[in-house]
Formats: sequence, C-alpha cells, structure tokens
Amino acid sequence: MKHVRVPFNRPYVAGREMGYIREALHSGHRHGDGAFTQQCHSWLEKTLGCPKALLTPSGTAALEMAAILADIMPGDEVIMPSFTFSSTANAFVLRGGTPVFVDIDPRTQNIDASKIEEAITDRTRAVVPVHYAGVGCDMDVIMSIAQRYKLLVIEDAAQALLARYRGRYLGTIGHLGTLSFHDSKNCSAGEAGALLINDPRFIERAEVVREKGTSRPQFVRGEVDKYTWIDVGSSYLPSEVTAAFLLAQLEEADATKTKRVAAWNVYEERLGEVSPGLARRPYVPPECEHNGHLFYLVLAGEAIRRSFIAGMEQRGIVTLFHYVPLHNSVAGLRYGRPGGVLTATEVAGRGLVRLPLWRDMPFSLLELVITETGAVLSSLG
Ligand SMILES: *Cc1c(COP(=O)(O)O)cnc(C)c1O
Repeated sequence: MKHVRVPFNRPYVAGREMGYIREALHSGHRHGDGAFTQQCHSWLEKTLGCPKALLTPSGTAALEMAAILADIMPGDEVIMPSFTFSSTANAFVLRGGTPVFVDIDPRTQNIDASKIEEAITDRTRAVVPVHYAGVGCDMDVIMSIAQRYKLLVIEDAAQALLARYRGRYLGTIGHLGTLSFHDSKNCSAGEAGALLINDPRFIERAEVVREKGTSRPQFVRGEVDKYTWIDVGSSYLPSEVTAAFLLAQLEEADATKTKRVAAWNVYEERLGEVSPGLARRPYVPPECEHNGHLFYLVLAGEAIRRSFIAGMEQRGIVTLFHYVPLHNSVAGLRYGRPGGVLTATEVAGRGLVRLPLWRDMPFSLLELVITETGAVLSSLG
C-alpha cells in the first residue's frame, strides 16, 4: 500500500480515561464491582432504561452469560442470522446448542423477521436478532413470534449502543440484550461488554453466573452469612481499571453518536450522487434511529469488491469487507444448520464493503473518500 491517508477507524480518547484509571488504581479496590463498575451500571440503566445492566469482559462474554441464563441444553436450537460475528453463534454452541441460520433482509442486512417462523421447530428455544450497523431489527414482529412460540429473545446489540427502535433503545427490548465496548465499537474500553437484563426474572441468577456460580452477590448484600458454589458460572467481571476507562467513554457516548451520525449523513447524501446504480447504500427503516456505527456499500460481487478495495488502497484509503457468512464457515457447517435459503446473506458476504468512519473524522477526509469512491466505482463500472 502507498502511505495510509485515511485509516478505517481511529479509536478516540474522551479525555477523562487516565484520571479515572488513576483513581481506580489507588482506590484499593481494583477487582470487579467497585465504584466505577457501579457508575457504569447506573449510567447504562438510567440512560437506556433497563432494570439491570452488568458489565462483562467483552460482548462475547455477555452472549455466553445470556446462553447460560437461557438454559440452552444440547440439541436446543437458536435462531440467528448467518451474517454476524462468530461470537453470536459460539455462545450457544458452547452450551451444546445448534445455531439455525435465517436469511437477512437485503436492505438492512438484519435478520429477515418474515423468515423466522419457518425455521422454528419443537427444539427452538431462542431468537438472537443482531442489530447490524446499529440499525434495529424488526423487533415488533420478532417479539410477537417469540411470545407465540414461547421463545426467549436475546438481542445482540454489540454495535447498537444508543440506537433506537420505535423510541426504545436497542438491547432493552428482548428478554436479554448484549453490548460490546471493543475498540472497534462506538464506545470502547479496549475490551469490554455488558449484559442488559430486561426480564427481571433473570437478574438474581445473572449475578450468580457472573460471580463464578457463587452466592457471593447475596453475601455482599448481607443476605447470607457465607458464600458457596450454587450454580454454573464463570468469571464475567471486568476489573475496575476497565470500568474506569469505560465510564469516561460512556460520559461522551451521546456526543459520539451525534458526531458519527453527522459523518454518516455526509456519506449518505453525497455517495448517492457519485455512485448511481453501482452500489447499494444502507437503508434505515423509519422506525429506527441508528447510531452511525458503520457505513457500507454493497457491490455486485466478490470480484468487483476485490478491485474496489485494491483501488481504494492504491489511493491510500482503507476499506474493509465484513462477515464471511457463518453457515458456510468451517465451524458453522459443523455446529449449525441453515434454516432456509440464505440468498441475501451470500450477496452481503460477497459484496459488502465498509468505508472509513470515526467520531472526529474531518470533513475533508470524508470528502476525499467520497471523491475516490466515485472515481474507483466508475473505473469499475
Ligand atoms: C463486536 C461484536 C461482538 C463481540 O463483541 P466483543 O466485545 O468483541 O466480544 C458480537 N457480536 C457482534 C454483532 C459484534 O459486532
């Protein structure tokens, strides 16, 4: 590559991270669930309007906790899109469950809610909608199917912090929701995540599962006089240093969303002019308010995408493809099965490309990416 003029992402520093981390370091309480963790929990609960939030070491860990709480047993089936990250499926496979992959809506790349019902069997236990790019899935339809078939809904809202569906924050609509604070997400602690518990019947058990399956949470509240091993669980608490880092980023989350959406809007408005017919742009349904997590184009196939990425790279601009669909992956073939035809999934798997986008991306760089995208696309068309 020639020198990089535009990287794909530039993780931002909110400003208060070091001060908070220093405070955590000197607090005498550096393991999990100290003052910074409590502040992150209440920020999430108050801001999102969710009865209980628990920080986890990653979005992956939050999904694993959700699979334990859903009591997934060997042979149980879990409906999810194939166009997602491995963690969405792994969490359930670790419990012996079988991911059943349903196609996506080609306009949003989200699970096609109208195709969920035909994938349901008497082994189906849960549905896991993934809010791709921070745009909400069709939650009204998904929740009503779940109610009819008595299924749990676990929202993989890893990319969706502060995005909304009919006014409600994503991750707070299903029984459980998961967030990620990985470096690639809108708010980051390097590696971290959160479990959102919207159905209060899971709260007490979630606290136990997160504390290595012990009754330590009851002990800390003074409800029991010693704590013991009472359930399956693991170590799902991040340290206070991570929580301190995260709190600084959460305090800036709203501004981050506003700035990312502004950059996203520049792409949306200007790319329509430079790429007529050559590339599909994201669609945001009117009931959804997204969070500017990512901007993508869907090109007409793998060969065109390869040439596009190479052409942009020659101009010093990093663009990235995204998920290799899980249903065709080595582990997906072994542990999962398709729950219908996956045509739109394969189209996105071959053609989707993500453009550079970060919180303080200067307008001049957005303009540069737009101009070069137009130039590369017309050289291909
Ligand atoms: C980022 C992401 C995850 C995993 O989150 P980590 O914090 O990296 O473990 C899971 N699902 C989706 C859809 C993601 O984008």
